[in-house]
Amino acid sequence: MNDPLSTADPEVFELCRAEERRQAEKIRLIPSENYVSKAVLEASGTVFTNKYSEGYPGKRYYEGQDFVDPLETLTIDRAKTLFGAAHANVQPYSGSPANLAVYLAFLKPGDKVMGLALPMGGHLTHGWNVSITGKFFTPVQYGVRKDTGRLDYDEIRDLAKKERPALLWAGGTAYSRLWDFETMASIARDVGARFCADIAHIAGLVAGGVHPSPVPHADVVTTTTHKTLRGPRGGMILCRAEHAQAIDRAVFPGLQGGPHVHNTAALAVALKEAAQPSFKEYAKRVVANAKALAAELMARGFDVVSGGTDNHLILIDLTNKKVAGKVAAKALDKAGIELNYNSVPYDTRKPFDPSGIRLGSPAVSSRGMGEAEMKLIAAWMDRVVADPSEETAAKVLAEVREVTRKFPAPGISA
Ligand SMILES: *Cc1c(COP(=O)(O)O)cnc(C)c1O
Repeated sequence: MNDPLSTADPEVFELCRAEERRQAEKIRLIPSENYVSKAVLEASGTVFTNKYSEGYPGKRYYEGQDFVDPLETLTIDRAKTLFGAAHANVQPYSGSPANLAVYLAFLKPGDKVMGLALPMGGHLTHGWNVSITGKFFTPVQYGVRKDTGRLDYDEIRDLAKKERPALLWAGGTAYSRLWDFETMASIARDVGARFCADIAHIAGLVAGGVHPSPVPHADVVTTTTHKTLRGPRGGMILCRAEHAQAIDRAVFPGLQGGPHVHNTAALAVALKEAAQPSFKEYAKRVVANAKALAAELMARGFDVVSGGTDNHLILIDLTNKKVAGKVAAKALDKAGIELNYNSVPYDTRKPFDPSGIRLGSPAVSSRGMGEAEMKLIAAWMDRVVADPSEETAAKVLAEVREVTRKFPAPGISA
């Protein structure tokens, strides 16, 4: 049992090495992805993976928590300090389970939940019909305006007053503008709803001070830890002191068993990193790069939804370029530029073959790329979208390789 991976399982070892090379060679623009630091990667591969720790620090169901308890307490303290929250739960396995815990804490089956619709840029777990949250609860979905691509808070308020949901969500996966959490909180208050802000995509921007924080306004804040926050895969819940017990009980024993303690260790490291001045610089660079990339793409005739971005994310409607999102995404991937096809608001095409692409700047910013590289990326994208052929992809790929070589990928020594 002490052989290294390379000899114990060469097949898996090779796949890991290949994925390292892929991540180093590609321009990774999927806005929910990032590179973790070497230290985060190391912490996530520790013997804490061997340990069962059902319960919370000081109240466990198994012995041997000598080092788990101080680790979880340290992680909770770092999360509370970074986000200015009264309470933190660092056990959710990921973003979706964190959101389920909020339902379990506050709602009964059948209760009304209101969130941004998936095709408008929302998340499955905010009441979309194929999700358990749309099946076991009664969903009411708001959208963005057709003319602006932006949220209309008056419309949201009118809908909330008419439907009177028990839970109101803010947050999304394909929305490139700032959220007005204060107004969302006032809407929830007006209709007697709990207000939960899901900052999965923007947690790193909130921590870095470049997006307003929902913490002063929301009953609960949920997030993933692996997107702009640049931690290990996982979830986290922040809340007011009055909700601490309900949230903790919902996560365990309500929804989960033992926490993934190796991920807790990695999260602690990521939270320490996110508290450094260098992370503020990172968050600023993420937004500056996204704005620069959006501006370059718009100058090349790309139809950026809402006319730009305030955060890390860009949503593009390719209808005017006469190419489907999936065709463009696949051609760009061949050219070494990785992003995802995505529905755009009021899309006339099907979700599995939509009109748009979604991209963002978190990962390229972690490599230290800047506005000069954003210009190159926009030009490459323009060439491939104008001619999604193998030949053009191959030419662009050669140029991409030259640039990615100059920006070593964090955590990857290959
Ligand atoms: C990514 C995301 C989630 C879900 O996170 P998973 O870790 O994939 O379960 C939830 N909400 C929003 C807004 C997200 O962007």
